[in-house]
Order: sequence, then C-alpha cells, then structure tokens
Amino acid sequence: MNPFQTPIEYLKGVGLSRAGVLKKELGLATFEDLLRHFPYKYIDRTRFYKIRDIEPELPYVQVIARITSKELLGDKRTKRLVIQAQDDTGVMELVWFQGIKWMEKTLVPGKAYVIFGKPGFFNGKAQMAHPEMELYSPANLARNGNLTLQPAYSSTEKLKQFMLDSKGLQKLVATLLDQCAKDIHENLPQYIINKYRLVDKATAYRNIHFPGDAAALNEAQHRLKFEELFLLQLRMLKSKMHRTLKFKGNIFGTVGNIFNDFYEHKLPFPLTNAQKRVLKEIRQDTQRGVQMNRLLQGDVGSGKTVVALMSMLIAIDNGFQTCIMAPTEILANQHYQTIKDLVGDDFIEVALLTGSTPQKARKVLHQRLESGELKILIGTHALIEDKVQYKNLGLVVIDEQHRFGVEQRAKLWRKNVIPPHILVMTATPIPRTLAMTLYGDLDISVIDELPVGRKPIKTVHFYENQRLRMFGFMKQEIALGRQVYVVYPLIKESEKLDLKNLEDGINTMSHEFPVPDYQLSIVHGKLKAAEKAYEMKRFIKGETHIMVATTVIEVGVNVPNASVMIIENAERFGLSQLHQLRGRVGRGAEQSYCILMSNHKLSHDGRKRLNTMVKTNNGFEIAEIDLELRGPGNIEGTEQSGVLDLKMANLATDQQLLIQVRKIVEGIFEADPQLTNPEHQILHLSLQSKEQGLSWDKIS
Ligand code: ADP
Ligand code: MG
Repeated sequence: MNPFQTPIEYLKGVGLSRAGVLKKELGLATFEDLLRHFPYKYIDRTRFYKIRDIEPELPYVQVIARITSKELLGDKRTKRLVIQAQDDTGVMELVWFQGIKWMEKTLVPGKAYVIFGKPGFFNGKAQMAHPEMELYSPANLARNGNLTLQPAYSSTEKLKQFMLDSKGLQKLVATLLDQCAKDIHENLPQYIINKYRLVDKATAYRNIHFPGDAAALNEAQHRLKFEELFLLQLRMLKSKMHRTLKFKGNIFGTVGNIFNDFYEHKLPFPLTNAQKRVLKEIRQDTQRGVQMNRLLQGDVGSGKTVVALMSMLIAIDNGFQTCIMAPTEILANQHYQTIKDLVGDDFIEVALLTGSTPQKARKVLHQRLESGELKILIGTHALIEDKVQYKNLGLVVIDEQHRFGVEQRAKLWRKNVIPPHILVMTATPIPRTLAMTLYGDLDISVIDELPVGRKPIKTVHFYENQRLRMFGFMKQEIALGRQVYVVYPLIKESEKLDLKNLEDGINTMSHEFPVPDYQLSIVHGKLKAAEKAYEMKRFIKGETHIMVATTVIEVGVNVPNASVMIIENAERFGLSQLHQLRGRVGRGAEQSYCILMSNHKLSHDGRKRLNTMVKTNNGFEIAEIDLELRGPGNIEGTEQSGVLDLKMANLATDQQLLIQVRKIVEGIFEADPQLTNPEHQILHLSLQSKEQGLSWDKIS
C-alpha cells in the first residue's frame, strides 16, 4: 500500500477525534493531504528585537526579556494575567485572557524568556497578547536556530480546540516527515532535474515545511512550482498529441481561384501583419493532414472575421463546405451581413440558419447542404443539430469561445468522416500564460494589432459632480448625428438596488433628454426576448439616440454609428467587462469616447481598474492587469475550470516559469512523442497518478 494514502488517524498524535476535525475543517484525510498542507507563510526567527525598537507596524517579533512582575487582574468575566517583562532598553506588558492558570503556574518571575508574538501598543507601552514563551537558555536558542523560518499553517477555531493551531499542525507534519520522507520518490526525469538544477522531491517537501534558510525555501518552492506546471502541461500536451494521432485532418492543398479572386478584387483593404501571420498559421495547420484546433484571439475590431472568411475560402477552393457558428441570433445575423457585404452577391452564396429560419426554408437549406451545393453557412447552434447533414464539411469557425462547451465542439467532429478543422474566435483577450493553461490543448493565434487609421477610443473617468458635463457632451455628440450607450451594472447579489439605480437612471435620462427631440431605447434583463430584440433593432436602425441598458446587451453587437459609451458605477465592473463594453464603440469612422462614471469613494483595486481603462485600449495589457488584480480563478471564462486548481504556482506571478516549462514539455514530445525512452518511463507513472503529489510511488 502507498504509505501516503494512509488515513490520517494512523499518524502518531492524531487519533480518531482529531482525524475527524482535520478532515472536516481542512479536508485533510490522508498522509498525503497533510504533507501537501503547505505553510501559507514563514516567520523569521533569526532576529531578536530590543523592546525599545518595537513598533506597532511590525509583524511577529521576538524579544529576550526577564519577567519582573506577574498579577491576576479583573473580575470573573474580565480576568486576565498581566506580566511585565524587561530588557536593557525598556519594559513591555504581556497579557493572557485564556489559559491563564497554566501560564500563571509555569512562568517564573526573575527568569528570562524568549518571547514571541505580534506586538501592539497600549497606553504608549509595547504589549503582546498571548505570546509564545520559552525559557531562555543557550541550548534552547541553538535549537531554535535550526528553525530560522518558522512555518505558519492555516488552521481554524475548531481545530484550535483540539490543540491543532499552527504549532500543533507543525508538530504533526514533522512527525510525518520523520516517518515517511524515505518514501517520497522522484517523479521528474533525472536529466530534467539536473539540467534545470532542481532539488529532488523529498528535499523539496522537507524544505517547504522546514526550510533551513530563505535559499532553501526558494529552491523548494521553485521545484514544486516547476513540477506542478510540468505535470499540467504534460497532461495537456499529451491529450493534444493523442488527438493528433487519432484524428486525421482534411488537407487544403491549394490556394485557388476563389481565394485569389477575393484577395485581389474584393478585399477592400490591405491586411495587417498580424492578420497575415494568422492566415499563414492556419494555412500550415490545414496542410498537415491533422485536424486543426486553433484559438484565434484578438480585440474587438482587430479583423478576426476577415481572417476567418479567407480561411473559409481556402477550404472552398479545396472542395469543402464551411460554416460559422455564433452564440446568438443577433450575432449570427451580423456575421451574415458582414460576410455578404465582403464577398458581394455575385461571388459566392452565403446562407443563414438560425432558430427563426422558417421550416420550409430550413428544408431547402438542409437539402442543399447535403448535396454540397451550399458552401458557406452562418448560424447559431441550429447548424449543428443532428438533422443538419453536410456533404463535406471542412472548416468550422466558432465565434465567442466560452459559450460553446467541449461537448459541442465534439459534436462538430462527427459531421464528417474526417472531422472538420476548427477555428475558435474570441474577443476576450486572455493573457498568454492563462491561455496556455486553459486552452493548452489548442493552438493559439493572436491578432495584436488594429488596422491602420483606426482612431483609438478616448476614455475619461468622471465623478458624480461632473454629470452635467457628461449630459452636455452627450447632447453635443447626438447633435452631430451619433448615438450613445448608457450602461448600468446589474449584479445578482445586489439586484434590487441595481434595478432601483437603473430606474432612477432612466428617469433622469428621460427628463434630461425629453421626447420628441430625443428617443431612448431601454433594454434590461427583465424584458422578454422579443421586446429586447425590438428595442435593439430600433437602436441599430438609428431610430433612437440613446440606448440605456444593463450589461445584458449582446456581446459583439455592432452599431458603427454609436460613438459614445457611458458606464455608470464603473467601479463595480471587472476590467475585462469594462473593456468588452467599451469595445461596442469605436467601430465606425468617427472618433469614439468612453466615459466611466464613478463615486468619489474608490477601493484601491477599483481605482486601478479605472486608471487602467483610461491609460490603455490594448486588451492584452488589460487582461494582464486583470489577472494580477483578481488572480486566475476569477478571469472571465475560467470560472469552472479545474485546470486552475494550482497549489504552488501562480499564473500571474509565475509566467516566466510557465513559459519555460511549456517549452521543455513541448521539447520532450517532439523528441519522444510516445514517451518510450527509458528516461521518460517515469512520466507514464506521473501521468497516471490522479494527484500531483505522491500517490504513484510504487515503481515496479
Ligand atoms: P473582429 O471580428 O475582430 O471584431 P472584424 O473582422 O469584424 O473584427 O473587423 C472589424 C472592422 O474592421 C470591419 O469593418 C472590417 O471590415 C475592418 N477591417 C478588418 N481588417 C481590416 C484591415 N486590415 N484594414 C482595415 N479595416 C479592416
Ligand atoms: Mg467580430
């Protein structure tokens, strides 16, 4: 049996009742769980303070001082033990409210102690509540000297009742390491360990708990982060490799007339370098005989649609059908219009299939798809229903990634004997390292350049007292023939308050912008779908001047004439949401603006978000800052991803390491795709283990 799977009650000093609380409070059920309950911080015990030098801002400090007096104060309910301790620089006060009896009995006036705790001040005098006390002696000091960085473990009130505070947990971990360190086996190839100068696994585990010094701690942390990222990438790239071996891909061998004709005669602008690069990447993917699974990231307006279209034309040149799938009808409609406009009527037929396509028309479409007559189909989920059969579907473009699950992607693969190539487009830029982790099994292309001549959106941050200025600006822009969005937050937790704000906002707007001079569209989540669509259409057609909405307005909706985005309570939105909202303007030829309205009172993060928005239009830069501020678990689209359950590594701060590790793992698969080299045998075991840690130890 694997010693690390031993139930925790069998560890010396635990027993059944403590095992129960450990499991309930911290989820620690086995030896392995305890070993992987890493300290959340380390307390420096190398330095001794003089009482005179203690300041209230200091974290934990230790002092050597002699007890000069000891008294019990207060009545029954306010009872406390108060001790005065003195060194050659001053006097401090030590207080206990609990465990008084024990302390009173053991602490001896006249003797010197090593006193360790968090300092405070009371009546101008240094004070500590419930410090750790240890009789001072050179021998004791020497022993503590071995433990210069004392680990601090997270614990709970309940656990403390079982004497399992940080100190108590530390004792258990020490016992466990003494007993089991010899069973911790390496799970990385030895040549990798040597080459990247990693400490071995057993050392890493010992030092993450009980580091001899800061350097040892660093090495241990580095090793464990490396291992964690390594195993994650190993899994991802293995599944990618697996798919590559399993699924053949259609070969788009030639670039033919259709593409060339479009490129030379129809494309109304030169491609940006980024667009060219991505097209080249797609070209390479689709010639290898392997199914393409590519994620195309680019800010709104960076020209993803054109790239998708041109890839589709290559597919058609090679005798295949293609489709674009959008998450909503409105977006499907817009893609349909955009693509029709780009290719023109006489060039190639483009068809639309959504939930509201009438039965009759649908039948005709189905037939023409099955016969292979129809080459470009644009639609919603409707186009992957089982009824829809293609003659030869070669490329599928999916817009707006995270609304389509893996499930639906898989469904697409069954639409042809050889599964179609898949290009997923998303306008939510995510940092490279996050993409590597979340979509580690996809290839990633990035359009990081906007077409020339695009006017960057001007963003300002206004406070409440500048509201009149904002109204004035709205009127000025409307007078120039433009349209304006006004967006309110609507967040589940504060729905009532938000709706009230929205109502107030609508009242103010109607008052400030009265009919008949001004027309308003109002769209919020409480409206029926048909009502929403009706209001949206009025705005899209230019019949209304102002669209007042909660965040429910569709992602990706394109109204080129709308040039002003006003975001109310902007401090309450996340960065990526703000960026997405701002992306609704700046789509036409006119200079566009974004006004962020906020209270004067802003949190540190709130201010940073607004400042970032004012400072940059670059979605990738914004995504990086978002990642820093919120941590990877909260980035849009990553919520349910178990992939991000990292214990050691932090995708925001360990980006360099992740990139390095990814390259190393790629190199391994390049040299040894099936991991057959003897030195890679160990990796099969590492891959098999469910945990990252220690479960796999039986090498036989
Ligand atoms: P995305 O899908 O990335 O939001 P689109 O493909 O819809 O962006 O392009 C946004 C707008 O920019 C469209 O009007 C498109 O015709 C135009 N566009 C795309 N590429 C270029 C380019 N290289 N030069 C000029 N305009 C471009
Ligand atoms: Mg688009």
